[in-house]
Amino acid sequence: MFQLPNLSYKYNALEPYIDEQTMIIHHTKHHQAYVDKLNSALSEYPDLQDKGIEQLLKAIDTLPEPLREVVKNHGGGHYNHSHFWNSLKAGGFAPNKQMERLINESYDSFENFKKVFTDIALSLFGSGWVWLEFDNGKINVKKYILQENPLMEGKLPLLGLDVWEHAYYLKYQNKRADYINAWWNIINWDFVEENLAKAIM
Ligand code: MN
Repeated sequence: MFQLPNLSYKYNALEPYIDEQTMIIHHTKHHQAYVDKLNSALSEYPDLQDKGIEQLLKAIDTLPEPLREVVKNHGGGHYNHSHFWNSLKAGGFAPNKQMERLINESYDSFENFKKVFTDIALSLFGSGWVWLEFDNGKINVKKYILQENPLMEGKLPLLGLDVWEHAYYLKYQNKRADYINAWWNIINWDFVEENLAKAIM
């Protein structure tokens, strides 16, 4: 059965960009609920219980019909949030050489990449994620609704931004742009690079 992963940092570690209260609720309530509902749905399907979350998400169309929606929503929620916690880190970081090269190839400069990513995050209507994904040797920024993600389209997720209101509303209220701007200060680019390495190895 799936479990809520521990964070590798304290709930207040990302202050002032993401506040402690938001982190506590986001991790112990929202993420926990995705895990619980996923486990509950899978409890009726013993042969699927030894599958990893990535394996399930890559093959939603092959799952029993009653499971598809719940795996997409709650399995997606579990995977996305686990990825999100790992992609955050206190301190100022920047993309390293390999990532920088890919960003420059596709977006000309880091500043332009930041602008494109931010604009897409601002334009997402309702709840969803913006993902930097890797596919066919290239990176791409794309918005996904609800808890969908690149794995469901056979692509590799490198970096995801949660733009559900629960991710920022306590501190930023309706000011999504301020939350996005703050997020650029706490990206763990080493984690992004590790994800990329999985694709090119
Ligand atoms: Mn969330």
